[in-house]
Amino acid sequence: MKLFQKILIGFVLGAILGAIWGPGIVWVKPVGTIFLSLLKMLIVPLIFSTLVVGVASIADPKKLGRVAGKTIAYYLITTAFAIIIGLLLGNIIQPGAGMNLVLEGAAKEAAKAPSLIDIVVNLIPTNPVGAMAQGTVLQIIVFALFFGYAMTKAGEKGAAVLKFFEGFAETMYKLTGTVMGFAPYGVFALIAVTVGTHGLAVLIPFAKLIFAVYLGVIIHEVVVYSGMVSIIGKMSPIKFFKGFSEASLLAFTTCSSSATLPVSMRAAQDNLGVSPTISSFVQPLGATVNMDGTALYQGVCALFVAQAYGIHLGLGGQLTVLLTALLASIGTAGVPGAGLVMLTLVLTSVGLPLEGVALIAGIDRILDMARTSCNVTGDAACAVVVAKTEGELVEVKK
Ligand code: ASP
Repeated sequence: MKLFQKILIGFVLGAILGAIWGPGIVWVKPVGTIFLSLLKMLIVPLIFSTLVVGVASIADPKKLGRVAGKTIAYYLITTAFAIIIGLLLGNIIQPGAGMNLVLEGAAKEAAKAPSLIDIVVNLIPTNPVGAMAQGTVLQIIVFALFFGYAMTKAGEKGAAVLKFFEGFAETMYKLTGTVMGFAPYGVFALIAVTVGTHGLAVLIPFAKLIFAVYLGVIIHEVVVYSGMVSIIGKMSPIKFFKGFSEASLLAFTTCSSSATLPVSMRAAQDNLGVSPTISSFVQPLGATVNMDGTALYQGVCALFVAQAYGIHLGLGGQLTVLLTALLASIGTAGVPGAGLVMLTLVLTSVGLPLEGVALIAGIDRILDMARTSCNVTGDAACAVVVAKTEGELVEVKK
């Protein structure tokens, strides 16, 4: 049986058992936690080694600049599309209409918007080992870029270091494969706990919101990603989604772009034919800054909260949501629930009550599953597009 089929079976069995057993199912939680820890264990050494090798293989700083430019442009454009889809659906479906909530109590504290200067200054690690210890992905990426570049300048001695990192990266890939063998059990436990603790009844008042977010994510994937991979990447969307399905499903259950990263990189390279050079740059970067699903969700949720409290959000307000959701999604960490925290930022920007966050919190996990899956799929679509335009996409026959 293929791994994907096993994971799917784990998923379905977990959901059924969670629904039958209810909250008592939490005893399987440690299995899910162990699986998540195994995935997280891979992240830092995997990103660092593959990126160092990737930079060394690009070597030419012009090409590196070009790849970075294309990647960032792609990320910004697709995220803006996602928010527009979210806002459109929020206006059409009106998920919060009829909730007639009244404000009471003091407002919660909002998350602070990171200023652009702070973002840039914080890119440089004062201590690379510290950045690795804390898993600060952007700083690790920056150090790896410098390190890989310097290595190519260090002649024969640098070549020896490259050889070491090539072996290191290969070892990390093998380890990823080993950890994935455990995925069916991990996914089973994670989904059983989610379904068991949420139950199905809490979903009813939020059915429209859940529907809007799921529909938005599906539209975004089918229209934007299919369009990008087929028009620019010259790859059939079916092949794309099929080749990436294992990673999408894993993101859906773990609700973490970061934890899914090792698996999404493997899927892009082995199943979609993206060169390790492109994949090791585009995907770790995307897992931290490119969150289309999160941005879309923030667009829908802003309207949901406005409608639930009977507050009118005009065109100007919605444009502000577009801009802040774009920034907020860049600042969102690839961990479960981070998008909900950043939603406070979006709500504050247009003066919506932060009580809205508490309202959504109860069902956020359900929304997180869809948005995280979309987030990682977006990174893979970008990897395909950039690889194609750089002549780094090979045909995979499977
Ligand atoms: N859980 C999401 C992710 O890891 C972030 C979010 O909460 O929106 O991609």
